[in-house]
Amino acid sequence: YQCKAKDMRSEDELGRGAFGAVYRMRHRKKGTVMAVKKIRATIDNDERRRLMMDVNVACKSLDCPYTVTFYGSLFHDGDVWIFMELMDRCLDQLYKLVYEKLKLTIPEAVVGKMAESTIKALHFLKSTLNVLHRDVKPSNILINRSGQVKLCDFGIAAETINSFTKTNIGSKPYLAPERINPTDNPSFDQRSDVWSFGITFFELAVGQFPYPFPKDVDIFKQLELVVKGRPPRVPDSAPVSPELRSFIHRCLTKEVSNRPKFHQLLDDPFIKRTETEDTDIGPWFRDILEREASL
Ligand code: ADP
Ligand code: MG
Repeated sequence: YQCKAKDMRSEDELGRGAFGAVYRMRHRKKGTVMAVKKIRATIDNDERRRLMMDVNVACKSLDCPYTVTFYGSLFHDGDVWIFMELMDRCLDQLYKLVYEKLKLTIPEAVVGKMAESTIKALHFLKSTLNVLHRDVKPSNILINRSGQVKLCDFGIAAETINSFTKTNIGSKPYLAPERINPTDNPSFDQRSDVWSFGITFFELAVGQFPYPFPKDVDIFKQLELVVKGRPPRVPDSAPVSPELRSFIHRCLTKEVSNRPKFHQLLDDPFIKRTETEDTDIGPWFRDILEREASL
């Protein structure tokens, strides 16, 4: 990938995560724009080597329309820069905007398209690259003005990054019950991603996080609730169809051996229905952006 750090000009900061920030950057001469994730230099050489290996995995995912395209990466001043396709919003920003700022809801047909894209991305990564995501959450699913929904941050040093994610106090628990105390289940199973996917789509469909955590309950209490409590159930008052409700509940099966795998979710009646509807979510999303601009 022929692109040097000094050729790139930083524009806006797009967001911040546990271990770095993402910027919109423009190539000074060509004018092309990209999203660049800059990971702080604090990781050691071994972790870096692993990171670069995982970036290579990301580069191989070019054939999937549901994963964010990776252009390459470089080291600069000790930081790792990861170049990727620029998207317009992550679903975390989007659902807060829709439910909290605009006091609207995300229509079920839109939720369906988002779920279909995400599960197809997860299935592609597993079946063709043998990669599990390990950090499925709304901020790792991105949308653009054309209405495309794409998964990002897969395979990027899952080990390195998830050790940060887990200790990232203050973040919400998307982690599956069996991952919270992984001594019993040392190897990561795709169904742990399915749980996180279920929490994510509960949040997008209902407009609130499935565990009602008061501000004063710390992350350890929250994790305990995930492990010991009953699985979340979509409230009766939520405006979701029986198909969507049971789709979410299937993903949120506590016992990992009873939880569906990706290919079983692809055959779920909710996803089948979504596929036949073939909704274009571009117009809906552009309308939301216009409403945001006029707030
Ligand atoms: P996290 O996923 O935990 O929020 P990240 O560092 O991965 O942390 O990303 C920070 C934010 O940057 C995301 O929440 C998202 O809003 C934004 N972002 C990440 N990648 C892109 C991209 N390719 N295009 C546009 N925005 C992005
Ligand atoms: Mg991310």
